[in-house]
This record gives sequence, structure tokens and C-alpha cells, in this order.
Amino acid sequence: MNQLPKLPSCEYRVELEDANSFGCRHQRLFAPGHRVTASICLTCKLRSSVCEEPRSIDEVKNPKKVPSLAKRGWNLTKALTTFVSDGCQTLREEDYQTRLQICDTCARRREDHCLECGCRLSLKARGRAFRCPLGKWPTETQVNIKEEQ
Ligand code: SF4
Ligand code: SF4
Repeated sequence: MNQLPKLPSCEYRVELEDANSFGCRHQRLFAPGHRVTASICLTCKLRSSVCEEPRSIDEVKNPKKVPSLAKRGWNLTKALTTFVSDGCQTLREEDYQTRLQICDTCARRREDHCLECGCRLSLKARGRAFRCPLGKWPTETQVNIKEEQ
């Protein structure tokens, strides 16, 4: 149990075994492992905002790790090779936005990064050949591909 100073109540806060931090279920809270300290909670404005799909308690207690630097480097190399093989084709703006909107609702998004592959989403979502590692993006046949010049 936490022995930290009394905090304003928050439905998104999860008590952890670690006495120095809490878990946060609010999707807009970006912190490693969804961990927050008492001082973050004290100044947090999110507790009065509605989070329609809070993280599950299990996700907060057992957060997935971001891929290691080596793994991210390997993922990036593979992705770039595929992109170049595809002629460096990019998507139309509306299809690019469709991908990003899907990422917006994904628990694996942290700001501009995907925790699943470690890639930067604003770049990755542009390339026709790139894929969501969880298969959430529309497939090529569903996406309107930019006309070849
Ligand atoms: S960081 Fe904000 S939303 Fe998260 S548990 Fe603390 S007060 Fe609640
Ligand atoms: S690329 Fe896929 S897994 Fe990553 S944040 Fe977007 S939807 Fe989620």
C-alpha cells in the first residue's frame, strides 16, 4: 500500500506494490510504464477530464515494454527496405490521416510513437509499404493509393 501524501481522488489511479509510484489508467497520460508519482498527480489536470476507454488495471500493472534499441533499429531497417522496394510510395493525405486516426484509438500509441514496433508514427503512416504490427491499418486493397506519377 502507498504511504504517500493524501491526494485528490482520481478514478484512474491504481495503487501498486511500489510504494513510490502509482499506475495511471488515463489514456492521455504518457509516462514510462504508465507510472506516475504523487507530485504528478497533485498537479495533474487529466483527473477532471473524461477518458472514454481507460487502460485496464492489468495493462497498468503489467505494462508491455517498448522494444529495445537494437530491436527498434532492426524494425526500422526492415521497414525501410520494404519501403524502398515499393518505390518509396506514399499515401494520399486522407489515407495517411485514416491510419493516424486508428493509432489515436490504440493503447499502444504513445504520443508520436508506436510501442509495438518503436517507430515514429507520423513518418511510418506515410509509407504505402509500412504495416501496423497489430494489423489494424487498412490493407492495400482498402486504401486508395497515391497515383503513380
Ligand atoms: S496522473 Fe492524473 S489521471 Fe493519472 S492517476 Fe494521477 S491524477 Fe489521475
Ligand atoms: S501502428 Fe498499429 S499498433 Fe502501433 S499505434 Fe498504430 S494502430 Fe497501434
